[in-house]
Formats: sequence, C-alpha cells, structure tokens
Amino acid sequence: MRMVDLIEKKRNGGRLSAEEIQFFVDGYVDSSVPDYQAAAMLMAIWFRGMDKQETTDLTLRMVESGDKIDLSSIPGVKVDKHSTGGVADTTTLIVGPLVAAAGGHVAKMSGRGLGHTGGTLDKLESIPGLSIDHSMERFAEIVGSCGVSVIGQTGNLVPADKKFYSLRDVTGTIDNVSLIAGSIMSKKIAAGADKIVLDVKTGSGAFMQDLAGAEELARMMVEIGNLAGRETHALVTDMNQPLGNAVGNALEVEEAIQILRGEADGSSAARSTAGAGASRGGAAGGTEGAAGGVEGGDLKRVSFELAKMMLVLGGVCKDEDEAKRKLDEAISSGEALERFGCMIEMQGGDRRVIENTDLLPRAGEIVVAEAQASGYVSAMDTAQLGISALLLGAGRSKKDDVIDPAVGYWMKRRLGEWVEKGEALAEFHVNSRGNFEEALKRFQNAIRISREPGEAVKVIYKRY
Ligand code: URA
Ligand code: CA
Repeated sequence: MRMVDLIEKKRNGGRLSAEEIQFFVDGYVDSSVPDYQAAAMLMAIWFRGMDKQETTDLTLRMVESGDKIDLSSIPGVKVDKHSTGGVADTTTLIVGPLVAAAGGHVAKMSGRGLGHTGGTLDKLESIPGLSIDHSMERFAEIVGSCGVSVIGQTGNLVPADKKFYSLRDVTGTIDNVSLIAGSIMSKKIAAGADKIVLDVKTGSGAFMQDLAGAEELARMMVEIGNLAGRETHALVTDMNQPLGNAVGNALEVEEAIQILRGEADGSSAARSTAGAGASRGGAAGGTEGAAGGVEGGDLKRVSFELAKMMLVLGGVCKDEDEAKRKLDEAISSGEALERFGCMIEMQGGDRRVIENTDLLPRAGEIVVAEAQASGYVSAMDTAQLGISALLLGAGRSKKDDVIDPAVGYWMKRRLGEWVEKGEALAEFHVNSRGNFEEALKRFQNAIRISREPGEAVKVIYKRY
C-alpha cells in the first residue's frame, strides 16, 4: 500500500477500507508515514468526510495504538461521562458525588484539558493537598469507600490521538465530526468504561459551533460506542455562555460545592451582588427555564440530566423519575456533599473545604468588570471568555504552563439579563496585573450589550 494512493482516494471522495485506515494510523504512529502525508490526509478527510464505518474503523484502530485500562477490579457497572469541553463546565465535580450518593459508582480517569481553562484535574488540584496520582489499587479502594474517585490517567492511552491532535491543531483540521468523534471515543473506549454518557456542546464556546454539526457529532459518537459494545447516550447542550458562573479552577470548585450544598441555583439573579433584579421586563432572551426556578441554574440542570442518565444506564435506578428523586434527596440530606468530602480526604486533600470554601486558594485582588453601556446581555463569544481566563492565569496556552488555581472570574450576568452601565458584568479574581488589562479587554469585547435581549437560548437541545 502507498500512502499517496490513499490520500488521492480520499481527496476524490472515495471511502477507505479498514485495512487502509490501519495503514494510515499505524504508519503515522510509527513515523513511517511522515507529517506532510498525514496532514494531507487529514485535510482530505476534513473536506470529504468519513462515513460511520470509516469513523468506527478509525476509532478502533486508534484504541489499538496504546494501553487499555481494565476497570474490572472496581465494583458495579462503570458509566463514564465525557464533555466535549467548554467554559465553566464543572459538571464532573457535581455529577460524580451526586451519582455516588444515589448508589452508583463513578471511577473516572481524566486527561489534562486541551482548552482555555483548566480541566477537571486542574480544578481538583486547587484543593489543598489533593492528589490525582494514585495506583489502580488505591483508586479501586476510594471508589469502594466513597462511590467516586477522579484521578489522572495512568498508562499510555491512545498515543495515536496525542500525535494526531497536535497535527490537527496546526493544520486547521480540528473541527471535523469524524476526527473529533475518533479522538474522543478512542480515549473513552481505551479508558475501560462499560457504558458512556456524552455531553456534546454547541454554540460560541464549542468545537462544533452550529447545532446541526453538534447533533451529527453526538449521533456519530453514540453509534461508534454502541458498535464497540459500550452502550452510549448523549446530550447536546448549550455553550453560548459559560455553563456555570464561576470561571477558574478554585472558583469552579467553590461553585460545585455550593450546588452540592443545595445553595446556589446558578442563576445570577439569585446570587447577584451587583444591584437588585438583574432581569427586567419579562425579556424574551436569556436561558429558557433558568429564572430561579426549582430546577436551578444551567450548571445544575445539565449536571442533574447527566446524573439521571448515568443512574439509569448503570442499573441503579429503574427510570429517570426515580433517579430525580434520589438526586434531590442526595442534596437535601447532605449525602452528595459528604461523598465529595470523602473523595477529597482519601485523595489526600483538606476535606474541610466542603464546609469552608475560604480554605481554597484565594487571589490577592478582586476587580469589577463593569458594563460599558446599559442594555441586555444579548450575546457572548464564549471562546473569547475562555481566553480571557487563560490570560489571567487560569489555563495553559502551552503544555507546561503553570496554572494559578486562585484566579478567574465570577459572571454576574447571564444572557438575556439587563445591566446598567457601570454595574458588574463579572468580578475578576486577580493575582498579577501583568495580563489583567488584556484579559479584561477580551472579556468586555466578548460580551455584547444591546437594546434588544437577543435570541433565547436553550440549555439542553437534544438527547440521543
Ligand atoms: N476533544 C477531544 O478529545 N478531541 C477532539 O478532537 C476534540 C475535542
Ligand atoms: Ca466565602
């Protein structure tokens, strides 16, 4: 087989056989296929696409490039949860303890995030003392005692993805449904879960910005998971604004704790410190159903939806009504918070943070980001909001950048809400003035304020 023939075949719209995909993947991993040919193939795939069979063959061949994790020492049906990534997506820290408190087992191995803000591991490491490096035996022990543990990946999972992702990142080939699906599902399958729940983001902060593309990605990943013998379900959820209100590692841990305590409902009107009544005049905009209702804010709603799916998939609850009851009880009884404390303690962290979030790292200075005009918050460029947090020090632009756990910001307004000129759009938690001005400028440029509220956005668009 010659790589150039495969490139031409795909360029001309042909479909690749399992053998041809194996030749490409294995060849790129062992460097017999050079970067320039792999880049040409990725671009041909970007333009021509891959069908379900090709995407499944790509995924399964990528799984074979490295280690596979065996979770059989951990009790129960292991249901993994994965988000395609977004700003202020703290769902793992909420869903894990919730599912554990309702009787499930969550054994999650996370990778380091690719994105603007820190990943789940970075958020956890903001808790004083907490370690994400544990042996398989200790991991099983923590899941056995607490029902939940989140640790860093051990072993060399899907080296093909590391290599492909770096190349895609610099060749304009990230945003392709088949390449994203192969990248995510190969890692999920290699990580050993029995069943998988996916949260596919759509909107200005997502990999797939338009809804149709996100739906296609969700359907594709569900199909691959099922073909690989791992029952898979998916949500398509909104990323046209940060999911929660806290952006930054320790701040997001604090918001997760608030939700587990049953305090925050995540809607800024309910916890705004910057003037009374954030919403005005029954605006058409904003987030459907998020106005302080019993279902709480967007972060809590998405967390509950994912947790319900996991409990039913894992066989812990017979249906979602039962799951919902158990989840409400997990919060009101304090059991979900307790499970989080258990996991923090067993992973070496200071469990007192669940009672006193002031024990989390704190930034030296809080600076208000003021609205520069009066009007409705009508649109956000969520990817730019993520970059603003990164500039403050909350994320990495290079692999070995050091994260500052304390910095970030709390959003004070959500889409559709009214703000007066000079009121707070956010409170920035700042440690170094170095990049602050640029971070603030990015933040303010990313938020549109208009006389009209803008189009209403949903929180949950689709379920598969
Ligand atoms: N997340 C991944 O893990 N891979 C992609 O390609 C995109 C998002
Ligand atoms: Ca406090």
